[in-house]
Amino acid sequence: MIQMKNVYKKYPNGIVALNGLNVEIEQGEFVYIVGPSGAGKSTFIKMMYREERPSSGQMLVDGIDIATLKNKKVPLLRRQMGVVFQDFKLLPRLNVYENVAFALEVIEESPAKIRERVLNVLDMVGLKHKARMFPDELSGGEQQRISLARSIVNKPKVVIADEPTGNLDPETSWEIMNLLEQINASGTTILMATHNREIVNAMRHRVIAIEGGLIVRDVAGGDYGYEG
Ligand code: ADP
Ligand code: ADP
Repeated sequence: MIQMKNVYKKYPNGIVALNGLNVEIEQGEFVYIVGPSGAGKSTFIKMMYREERPSSGQMLVDGIDIATLKNKKVPLLRRQMGVVFQDFKLLPRLNVYENVAFALEVIEESPAKIRERVLNVLDMVGLKHKARMFPDELSGGEQQRISLARSIVNKPKVVIADEPTGNLDPETSWEIMNLLEQINASGTTILMATHNREIVNAMRHRVIAIEGGLIVRDVAGGDYGYEG
């Protein structure tokens, strides 16, 4: 599903964020990306949805070549994936229902089908009753649940999460993790960059550690492996 061969990324300021990354991730895997700040985790994640482009190397996501993909084809790529951020990135002027429906870029679907799909995912994250509320009326945990609902409304093959629990208290973080587990159990690949040692050590999945733009550890069911 995801293949990287010698992926190298140098930013215009000369910083080498990824220094020849090689990795393969199969459909349905749950993968944690760990490592110190500045290691290259966000760059790795941003490559997936073509927020950044590799400077050299080969990278395939679901058969799509990220390096050579034309800009006008990027929306097509992003329809195959859901993205979740630490700071939620909900649209403040849209209510919960509209935030989720907005992501549903299914032009052929009837309004009735879209409505069914949106209410379905809101129900899954337990927030159907808050469909008319606005993001600033919700707690952080609730906003992240909405952002998860938004990420899966298109039925993507992969959900990419960059520090999804970074702004949440421990209890709320576990709720988010349980939802990610559910999403993974239905066959969706999950790629999650995190600093949350407790979660990584408790919910065991493949751990890929990045340091200095290189994979230094790749273990199935591994532990977090860093202090603090
Ligand atoms: P992490 O997510 O592990 O903290 P990043 O991928 O954000 O690591 O950063 C890797 C390196 O690339 C760091 O040295 C960072 O300062 C640098 N970097 C990240 N984004 C940019 C950018 N847009 N322009 C220049 N340098 C960047
Ligand atoms: P959590 O502990 O999950 O972060 P909070 O204690 O922040 O939750 O919020 C508890 C409840 O109060 C939630 O159901 C949330 O919808 C509601 N709430 C929080 N902030 C606001 C707000 N600014 N306006 C309206 N309701 C709010």
